[in-house]
Amino acid sequence: MRKTFLPFARPSISEEAIADVADSLRSGWITTGPKAQAFEEAFAAYTGAPYALALNSATAGLHLACLALGLGPGDEVITTPMTFVATVNVILWAGARPVLVDIDRRTLNIDAARIESALTERTKAIVPVHFAGLPCDMDPIETLARERGLALIEDAAHALGARYKGRLVGSSTEGRHVTVFSFHPTKNITTGEGGMLCTGDEEVAEKTALLRQHGMSKGAWKRYAVQGTPHYDVHFPGLKYNMLDIEAAIGLDQLRRLEDFNGRRRAIAARYDEAFADRGGLILPEAPSYDHLHGRHIYTPLVDVDRLGMSRDAFMARLRELNIGTALHYQALHLFSYYGETFGWRRGDFPEAEYVSDRIVSLPLFPAMTDEDVDDVIDAVRAVCLAKGA
Ligand SMILES: *Cc1c(COP(=O)(O)O)cnc(C)c1O
Repeated sequence: MRKTFLPFARPSISEEAIADVADSLRSGWITTGPKAQAFEEAFAAYTGAPYALALNSATAGLHLACLALGLGPGDEVITTPMTFVATVNVILWAGARPVLVDIDRRTLNIDAARIESALTERTKAIVPVHFAGLPCDMDPIETLARERGLALIEDAAHALGARYKGRLVGSSTEGRHVTVFSFHPTKNITTGEGGMLCTGDEEVAEKTALLRQHGMSKGAWKRYAVQGTPHYDVHFPGLKYNMLDIEAAIGLDQLRRLEDFNGRRRAIAARYDEAFADRGGLILPEAPSYDHLHGRHIYTPLVDVDRLGMSRDAFMARLRELNIGTALHYQALHLFSYYGETFGWRRGDFPEAEYVSDRIVSLPLFPAMTDEDVDDVIDAVRAVCLAKGA
């Protein structure tokens, strides 16, 4: 058995990033400034997005996307029950109503074929989530959005570097289409906390730039600069969602390493796929038939609870005893108290998501994992399954 505990995720922060943070701290300018701007430019260049706006989280980005797209009371927004709660919380804070559409249990993504039947005359937007980094089938979703005049907000918190039919997630240049990334420490790259909103919609970009800083027409950096003027105006009440330069300093270094990180993530996932393909204890997500490059943010098999005669939680507890960390992404959203109480959602409403919710587990996956770490995970999973006769 492994001697030390292996966490399910751990960020890789370089000495260069630490030096760049120290440089910002010493420079006298800590908050949003030249490094945040440079990070936005590098991000736009990487994704091909016409506009990239740095924020203090993806939650902030999703919230501002809702506000900038004008979603509000009376509007319905379609999304998936298999996501982090932030996806739906921001819809609620915009005053709109979330409408859940069940997933495809093979890919864990929203089932694009079921979206149309959930549309009403109140539907204003669709929020697909690229679960674990696997891009949703965007062609039918984009067609539907175009035909029905709906906005699209891609929750790409898992999907930086992922591709759908050759196109990078976040590269859309179409109007009323926004993509949001997260830089939380477990995500494909991190800034500590942070997020990026990408869009080709000039109006959304301008509104986001205002809303992230109180609605003020000019950021502090521009106001306090030598040639700046102290005046500003407020056209609508904004929030405080800007990214610090000390965060952007980390992000600039992380973005340069993204392709290496994701390459390592894919290699680890490929070893897991191979090792677990013939095991009876795990059910692996299936690759969809459309061309894609998986972002591999998390590695999420389903525990075959019937075959093992063991709950997912018991499986996680056994791995913990073997010094292997795991995580739960996610309990299906409609099963949390608040949403059930507010919308009357119950077990049975989204059976595919419930099937996954009862079985899913995130195994360790991060770029700094060694081959020995990967072996330890495979050995531990095998031991747990073997002990149950699988
Ligand atoms: C992490 C995550 C978010 C929120 O990201 P933050 O940067 O932590 O706000 C939103 N949606 C999904 C699917 C996530 O995994």
